[in-house]
Amino acid sequence: MSRFIPLSVPNLKGKELEYVTKVVETEWVSTGGGYINEFEKNIAGYLKIEKGVACQSGTAGLHLALKLSGVKYGDEVIVPTLTFIAAVNPVRYLGAEPVFMDCDDTLNMDLDKLEEFCRKECTLTNDGLINNKTGKAIRTLVIVHIFGNMANMERLIDIAEEYKLKVVEDSTEALGTYSTEGRYKGKFAGTIGDFGVYSFNGNKIITTGGGGMLVAKDKNLIDKAKYLSTQAKDDELYYIHDEVGFNYRMTNLQAALGVAQLEQLEGFIKIKMENYNLYKEEIDKIEGISILDFNKNTRANHWFYSLLIDEEKYGLSRDELLNKLNENKIQTRPIWGLIHEQKPYRNNQAHKIEKANYYIDRILNIPCSTSLAKEEAKYVCDILRELER
Ligand SMILES: *Cc1c(COP(=O)(O)O)cnc(C)c1O
Repeated sequence: MSRFIPLSVPNLKGKELEYVTKVVETEWVSTGGGYINEFEKNIAGYLKIEKGVACQSGTAGLHLALKLSGVKYGDEVIVPTLTFIAAVNPVRYLGAEPVFMDCDDTLNMDLDKLEEFCRKECTLTNDGLINNKTGKAIRTLVIVHIFGNMANMERLIDIAEEYKLKVVEDSTEALGTYSTEGRYKGKFAGTIGDFGVYSFNGNKIITTGGGGMLVAKDKNLIDKAKYLSTQAKDDELYYIHDEVGFNYRMTNLQAALGVAQLEQLEGFIKIKMENYNLYKEEIDKIEGISILDFNKNTRANHWFYSLLIDEEKYGLSRDELLNKLNENKIQTRPIWGLIHEQKPYRNNQAHKIEKANYYIDRILNIPCSTSLAKEEAKYVCDILRELER
């Protein structure tokens, strides 16, 4: 195999060029224009909800969601430690502090520990949940559907209702994932909590170069999010602003890409699932490595594949394997550094972090682009087999 096999790259072989060309020809390249509305409408249609608001990035969407969930200066917000840091930074943008939770064996937040934290470490008052240790109010929780694998939303919503927490679903990795059983059967990740946020960054399942979408249970809050994302203009002609807004609106150029990408989303998910199954079949035969499952009772979008390495049995550590694969022109990536250990967050409270410490040294994400050819996936498996010692 002579080609370099990237971890995850965009796939723009649909109508992207046609739609972007139209945008350029009409010169509606900025934050006005038909594709923005069309993209919002099409995403809402796909998710079977009424509306969403398109923004500059998933991070911007998360910032707006947290603000609209009622997070105030000096509050605390419950977040996972095993995730991408963009899920947490917006808490700080609002002058609030994150409290970190562990993961379970699906890599999503450990809901037993979450429940235990709320019950034992906090007190539910008329003013909401108060952290006993700091005396600060916790009004919001961020759940991340890691790698497109849906968290147990029935359990999570029960906990959130009991402890009066608003739920922000960071669904930036999980567009297209939905529940197939139970109370939320047919519901998409991001449409169950109070807010849901999607990302269209370059490595996500569909891309607009950079971009995001915010959805909310309360339609009024979507209108409010749109207002805040466009500099909070109360009068468009005279420039009257009753609040401090943001420049967070998606551009028509980005949205044109998004409309073309969304047309291909189900096809992308199909390819992601096929390649996952191919990897799974081959990798299960190799001693000392395995590929993590996606949860039952969901149709996961299979965005990223997680290889779990048992160094004793396989004969190579995670980082040795990463280097060997690199030598074979196969790009992989270790899972993120834990956020409670990153410089800006070292002094924050972290509740009984155990499993995250285990997984942090043992997970490698392997090539998962939708343009990954079957022969390339097989080649990755061949190399993994050869490297076993
Ligand atoms: C990608 C991602 C984000 C941020 O999305 P951007 O569009 O890049 O700002 C947030 N949270 C998680 C978990 C992500 O993977």
